[in-house]
Amino acid sequence: MNTIRETRSIETDEIWVIRRKRLWQRRYCLQCEMEVSVVGPDEAAFIAFTNVASIFECIGTGQVHIEYLEGATPMICVESLRSIRV
Ligand SMILES: [Zn+2]
Repeated sequence: MNTIRETRSIETDEIWVIRRKRLWQRRYCLQCEMEVSVVGPDEAAFIAFTNVASIFECIGTGQVHIEYLEGATPMICVESLRSIRV
Protein backbone atom coordinates (compact mmCIF):
# COMPACT_ATOMS: atom_id res chain seq x y z
CA MET A 1 0.00 0.00 0.00
CA ASN A 2 1.42 3.38 -1.04
CA THR A 3 1.20 6.43 1.24
CA ILE A 4 0.77 9.87 -0.27
CA ARG A 5 2.21 12.73 1.71
CA GLU A 6 1.07 16.25 1.19
CA THR A 7 3.08 19.25 2.37
CA ARG A 8 1.51 22.61 2.90
CA SER A 9 3.37 25.76 3.84
CA ILE A 10 2.00 28.97 5.23
CA GLU A 11 3.93 32.21 5.04
CA THR A 12 3.77 34.10 8.28
CA ASP A 13 5.79 37.19 7.28
CA GLU A 14 4.10 40.10 5.64
CA ILE A 15 5.44 43.29 4.09
CA TRP A 16 3.32 46.39 3.74
CA VAL A 17 4.22 48.94 1.12
CA ILE A 18 2.60 52.27 1.75
CA ARG A 19 2.76 54.68 -1.13
CA ARG A 20 2.43 58.34 -0.38
CA LYS A 21 2.11 61.27 -2.67
CA ARG A 22 5.66 62.22 -3.50
CA LEU A 23 6.41 65.63 -2.06
CA TRP A 24 10.16 65.53 -2.54
CA GLN A 25 12.10 67.97 -4.67
CA ARG A 26 15.72 67.89 -5.73
CA ARG A 27 17.82 70.89 -4.71
CA TYR A 28 21.45 71.73 -4.16
CA CYS A 29 22.27 71.82 -0.42
CA LEU A 30 25.03 74.30 0.45
CA GLN A 31 25.98 72.43 3.63
CA CYS A 32 26.09 68.97 2.00
CA GLU A 33 27.62 70.47 -1.16
CA MET A 34 25.59 68.18 -3.38
CA GLU A 35 22.16 67.76 -4.86
CA VAL A 36 19.79 66.29 -2.29
CA SER A 37 16.11 65.63 -1.82
CA VAL A 38 14.27 68.25 0.18
CA VAL A 39 10.89 67.95 1.84
CA GLY A 40 8.51 70.09 3.82
CA PRO A 41 8.23 69.88 7.62
CA ASP A 42 5.35 67.39 7.58
CA GLU A 43 7.17 64.96 5.31
CA ALA A 44 10.41 65.46 7.29
CA ALA A 45 8.60 64.52 10.50
CA PHE A 46 7.26 61.39 8.82
CA ILE A 47 10.71 60.40 7.57
CA ALA A 48 12.38 61.04 10.94
CA PHE A 49 9.64 59.26 12.93
CA THR A 50 8.91 62.38 14.92
CA ASN A 51 6.48 65.27 14.93
CA VAL A 52 6.51 68.62 13.18
CA ALA A 53 7.28 70.52 16.41
CA SER A 54 10.52 68.51 16.80
CA ILE A 55 11.44 69.28 13.20
CA PHE A 56 11.01 73.00 13.84
CA GLU A 57 13.10 72.62 17.00
CA CYS A 58 15.84 71.02 14.88
CA ILE A 59 15.56 73.90 12.41
CA GLY A 60 15.99 76.34 15.28
CA THR A 61 19.09 74.59 16.60
CA GLY A 62 20.60 74.13 13.16
CA GLN A 63 20.52 70.33 13.28
CA VAL A 64 18.93 70.16 9.84
CA HIS A 65 19.76 71.95 6.63
CA ILE A 66 16.98 74.12 5.29
CA GLU A 67 16.22 76.25 2.32
CA TYR A 68 13.33 78.64 2.08
CA LEU A 69 11.60 78.40 -1.24
CA GLU A 70 8.99 80.76 -2.56
CA GLY A 71 6.63 81.55 0.27
CA ALA A 72 7.79 80.88 3.80
CA THR A 73 7.80 77.09 3.87
CA PRO A 74 11.19 75.70 4.87
CA MET A 75 12.37 72.79 2.77
CA ILE A 76 14.50 70.37 4.74
CA CYS A 77 17.48 68.46 3.39
CA VAL A 78 16.71 64.75 3.72
CA GLU A 79 20.42 63.95 4.13
CA SER A 80 20.56 66.11 7.26
CA LEU A 81 17.59 64.23 8.74
CA ARG A 82 19.80 61.19 9.13
CA SER A 83 21.80 62.84 11.89
CA ILE A 84 19.05 64.24 14.07
CA ARG A 85 18.31 62.78 17.47
CA VAL A 86 14.81 63.60 18.61
ZN1 LIG B 1 22.15 69.06 3.40
